[in-house]
Amino acid sequence: MDRARLQDLLAREMEQAAHRCPRSKDAYAQADHLFGRVPMTWMNKAAGAFPRYLATARGARVTDIDGHEYVDFCLGDTGAMAGHSPAVVADAVQRRFADLGGATAMLPTEDAEWVGAELTRRFGLARWSFSLTATDANRWAIRLARAVTGRPKILVNSYSYHGTVDESLIVVGPDGRGAARPGNVGAPCDVTLTSRVAEFNDLEQLERELAHGDVAAVLMEPALTNIGIVLPEPGYLEGVRALTRRHGTLLINDETHTFSAGPGGCTAAWDLEPDLLTIGKAIGGGIPAGAYGLSAELADRLLDRADLDLVDMGGVGGTLAGNALSVAAMRATLEHVLTEDAFARMTKLSERFEAGVRAGIDAHALPWSVSRLGARTEYRFASPAPRTGTESAAATDPELEDFLHLYLANRGILLTPFHNMALMCPDTTDQDVDLHTEVFAAALADLAG
Ligand code: PMP
Repeated sequence: MDRARLQDLLAREMEQAAHRCPRSKDAYAQADHLFGRVPMTWMNKAAGAFPRYLATARGARVTDIDGHEYVDFCLGDTGAMAGHSPAVVADAVQRRFADLGGATAMLPTEDAEWVGAELTRRFGLARWSFSLTATDANRWAIRLARAVTGRPKILVNSYSYHGTVDESLIVVGPDGRGAARPGNVGAPCDVTLTSRVAEFNDLEQLERELAHGDVAAVLMEPALTNIGIVLPEPGYLEGVRALTRRHGTLLINDETHTFSAGPGGCTAAWDLEPDLLTIGKAIGGGIPAGAYGLSAELADRLLDRADLDLVDMGGVGGTLAGNALSVAAMRATLEHVLTEDAFARMTKLSERFEAGVRAGIDAHALPWSVSRLGARTEYRFASPAPRTGTESAAATDPELEDFLHLYLANRGILLTPFHNMALMCPDTTDQDVDLHTEVFAAALADLAG
């Protein structure tokens, strides 16, 4: 990679972004009352000197306030995997909020049992409870796991991401031991007091850590998706299940992103048998929603425990969780939008996307790789594809990533700002995918000079 050329091209794309998006640039410059000038600090991750401001979004399309249209492969980093504002979800939300009223009444609606039954049909776990974010679903699942096992620690994979869960911000350090994830903001305590860590795809390390006998639960994605996509090697997930069972540790599958694998996520696609399952983002079709599921046996054991305050301030639950609006949105999304048919179409599009990226990489013989998990595809600046989170973390190249993201955005394509991730929604078309293939190839040609 000619770094000087890359820097020149990045500067050119930055200039072009400023020229194309003067209103976004001004809005950002004027946002003096926002911490970091954005409504949530992550929005500063946008490639370039300022984020593009949202005007409208529908299906796989987004427009910005400067009047540009984009094919959206970011889809709110999965929150809009059902497409932006699907009509049936909009109708369900309108009906619940405006026609019937009662978005937040602290009373159940009949939709909730429908959603619970559907989640059981898809993922297998027998009992469900709702949250508004995947982070909270994970927090509450962790508390339940600790309560039921009486053990203090949680184990996660190095460079996994499970939301802003204190216990999960741990990586394998250079000496092979657990260490705080770099950049962790205001940790409440040394993370090694609450957590253990193992590399994804490393059963020996997992066994060593579980052998301490103090791990309540392994919290994991069946494939890592937040440090590129790192797929499980043959036998790894079976090994995780066997080891967790042998050591009396519960297994929590976080399907928030791996839901892209199919209607029942990786859990259904690969016949996995977690004790708990967490999910968020996409299942509300754009309305905040999350959920955790647990086996009937685990649910009964928890409900029988008189010492656990599950109906007030015991640390599990939230005022707005399971509200009627969020539940109505989940029902509409699962019943009508993220259906088996939709996943089949999205997966085909994702295969097409993957083939386009591979052709670009091959044409320039780049040492990059591309991985796919159902409707989600991601390329990484490493070949062969990394097999652990730490390997994948070592392959980041922020300058190159910024260039590609900005190059694509300046030509009407949005990727997830956090990495080179592209997600298909039910409204994505072959033409959308082909546009990416074409622009990606042009970016690589520009880089090659
Ligand atoms: N789990 C996984 C696997 C995620 O990717 C994320 C967010 N990227 C979360 C949990 C947390 O989701 P949220 O920020 O919506 O709470």
